[in-house]
Amino acid sequence: MLKVLLFNPSSERLIIKDQYCSFTSKASYYWIPIDLLVISGQLQENFEVRVLDPNVEKMKESGIEEFFIKFKPDFVVILSSVLTYQNDLRLIRKLKNRHTFHASFIGDIFYRYSERMISLEGIDSILLAYPCEGLANFIRHRTPSTSILTLEGAAAPNLVADDKNVPSYLPQHQLFLSKKYSVPFDGGKKSTLLLTSLGCSFCCNYCPASRVSYQKRKFEDIVRELDFLRSIGVKRFWLRDFTFGLDAKDTFKFLDLLKNHYSFDWYCHSRPIVLSPEMIVAMKDAGCFLVMLGVDSLVQKTLEKEKRQQSYFQIKNKIDELEKNGIAVLLHQILGFEEESTLDMLKTTWLLRKTKALYLSLNFLSYRPGTGNFQFHQLLSYSEYELDSFYPHHPSKSHHPNILRVIKVLCLIIFYSRFNRVYSIVKSFKSFGEFFNILKTGFLQIWKT
Ligand code: SF4
Repeated sequence: MLKVLLFNPSSERLIIKDQYCSFTSKASYYWIPIDLLVISGQLQENFEVRVLDPNVEKMKESGIEEFFIKFKPDFVVILSSVLTYQNDLRLIRKLKNRHTFHASFIGDIFYRYSERMISLEGIDSILLAYPCEGLANFIRHRTPSTSILTLEGAAAPNLVADDKNVPSYLPQHQLFLSKKYSVPFDGGKKSTLLLTSLGCSFCCNYCPASRVSYQKRKFEDIVRELDFLRSIGVKRFWLRDFTFGLDAKDTFKFLDLLKNHYSFDWYCHSRPIVLSPEMIVAMKDAGCFLVMLGVDSLVQKTLEKEKRQQSYFQIKNKIDELEKNGIAVLLHQILGFEEESTLDMLKTTWLLRKTKALYLSLNFLSYRPGTGNFQFHQLLSYSEYELDSFYPHHPSKSHHPNILRVIKVLCLIIFYSRFNRVYSIVKSFKSFGEFFNILKTGFLQIWKT
């Protein structure tokens, strides 16, 4: 039986590689690498599959080497990223000197610039999507001896092409649940990640998801996955669609299913514009307890430039509606848009402060592969600050990184300095573990800034 390893190499910092983005963890949380989770769902039959994630296993290079000696993988799927590919390649080349395996890369820069990346030494193939049509066949026919022939013959057949419809897959959650992943909102329960769609139909300039066409999973595939989650004792999931609720008809069908046949609780990302009052009620009935809304900015000139249509009142009304139905709200704001002054950034936070949202998450603007402001030919001239949303960077250089750090802390103080908000947060905790988790995340966010 062919042995397949799903490998998430570690780096000096705790870097999350997630769909089309990579960034340093703002606190100490580190969630299941969803690209690998999805790919695991295409490898149930005829493969012996293992997951190696030294980030959560606290494994050093010597441990990885030992793992390769014992497991002897034939095919390794490597989750890499723009922030880590040089280090990942160094490790893979070293491992390839002593072991024979086919190295297939995935991750933000590999999905987006595959034709350039394939020429780098150590890469046998690149998977252009997760899930990836024909993956099992691809693995069977690219065993180490044939992959070399394919590489010498032509690079193109080595790129497994994207597909218009989401191919069927049933993730092997059990391979990941045995490891120590954590998310601030997992509440200490057995929890995992779930997708009902890929891509997004909005076109915000700075977001890589806007360059991925919106595709839905087959309803029966979602049902199979929910049944499986229940059978292995999962209680909670994070619905990782970029924007939940885009297709209202399918969303109501999914919510009905959750309400009538399962007892999961869950949380998701969405946009105020897609959440109707009826959908919010149905979400609550189906077990939703938290919605993360990307506001990013409320400055008109930024919204126009970045092709994001939204109004403060629309956002505020939807937050009220969610809160009224007992669903907590976490808002995302981005600091460092080129045209924004210090006052603009603080003003956005000030307006968000006046809403009933419980949480605010702040990121710095970064150049992300696949978006208009990322230029592949300048890759080596970018600093880590420009590529990682954990670090402050202002494209116009009008703000020193330290000033942006101060702005971030000020924004957090502005947002959380409301008695009602703090009281509601404390009241919402169901256990001391949950309280401790959120408190630790909040503290580390400020400390690491
Ligand atoms: S709505 Fe959100 S996920 Fe969709 S393109 Fe805009 S920022 Fe990206």
